[in-house]
Amino acid sequence: MSGNGMPGGGAEAEAAPTSARGDRMPSGAGTRGVPAASTGPDDAASAAPRPWEYSAFPVTVARREIISPNFLRLTFRGDALRHFAPWGVDQRIKLVLPLADGGLAEFGLLDDPTPHPSDWYTRWKALPPAERNVLRTYTPAAIRPEAGEIDVDIYLHSPDGPASRWARAARVGETLVITGPDVRNGWTGYGIHWQPPEQYASFLLVADETAIPAVRNIALSLPPTACGIAIVEIGDQADDVTVADLGPRVDVRVVARGETEDAVRAWASPDVDVAWLAGESGVVTASRRVLVRELGVPRERVAFLGYWREGGALVD
Ligand SMILES: Cc1cc2nc3c(=O)[nH]c(=O)nc-3n(C[C@H](O)[C@H](O)[C@H](O)COP(=O)(O)OP(=O)(O)OC[C@H]3O[C@@H](n4cnc5c(N)ncnc54)[C@H](O)[C@@H]3O)c2cc1C
Repeated sequence: MSGNGMPGGGAEAEAAPTSARGDRMPSGAGTRGVPAASTGPDDAASAAPRPWEYSAFPVTVARREIISPNFLRLTFRGDALRHFAPWGVDQRIKLVLPLADGGLAEFGLLDDPTPHPSDWYTRWKALPPAERNVLRTYTPAAIRPEAGEIDVDIYLHSPDGPASRWARAARVGETLVITGPDVRNGWTGYGIHWQPPEQYASFLLVADETAIPAVRNIALSLPPTACGIAIVEIGDQADDVTVADLGPRVDVRVVARGETEDAVRAWASPDVDVAWLAGESGVVTASRRVLVRELGVPRERVAFLGYWREGGALVD
């Protein structure tokens, strides 16, 4: 990854786990009322230093719900998820998709405490591609540590990539591993790109379907003083129910496939306090160019991250 995706350090594309750190906890992170504190009676016992901000959480598919024609909500449940940090917003997680036989290759991911990626990712990379679990990045749509659950809203690409294919076929009871933030590390900012300034009045969100869960969470985190626009590119208008209600501070403008760049050109203000862009990597790059080069938005106000790539995987 070429940067940490924060304003001033934008990233072209999401990649392997890194150790970029943020510095400030998001205000009212989009976690739907989950307390950001104690995780249970074994907190003290588990306070040993952890090599990485994230942990590996073994989970089971507990529920599946079709929320719109091309969106599937999977609820994952696992005892370890009581340690999942409820920071919300655009926090990234990885789904470690099961191998064809349902298993997990041995690359140390389930060691306790979870090793640093310089260990497990290196070992994963060294495995023959056919023998290693596919990794794909997602955003928790809801986090319920007290129930040991998270929801993930998965946009089903067509044609299918491995994650979309797996999700379509996933059955309740199936097991997999998720890597995500561990509350025992406290707030570090790792894996979060929405890190607006302390005070801001205006914002611009630019997204496509894959970034809708993040946009919904960001909308939940907005301070009462902020108002802005969310430009959301949606290929099948039947999926726009997924942005139907982002609250009174977000002016949602749904655009058709291929219209994002022009929409940014038409609607973005050069004075915007903070801009956040996520979605197909070419569209994100073009939209950022419009903001920074054409409209003159200071680059340090623009956070951007390619979430996927048209025509194939962004990373392995
Ligand atoms: C920080 C972050 C958060 C994210 N959060 C979410 C989220 O909450 N929800 C969500 O849905 N997504 C999210 N994404 C995006 C998700 O990771 C990508 O959409 C991912 O690529 C899906 O994996 P896949 O295996 O289904 O598709 P991939 O294999 O990655 O394929 C990507 C694209 O290539 C196309 N493709 C695949 N095979 C072929 C082929 N043979 N010929 C032509 N085209 C092909 C697919 O149709 C798709 O358009 C997030 C990404 C990041 C980086």
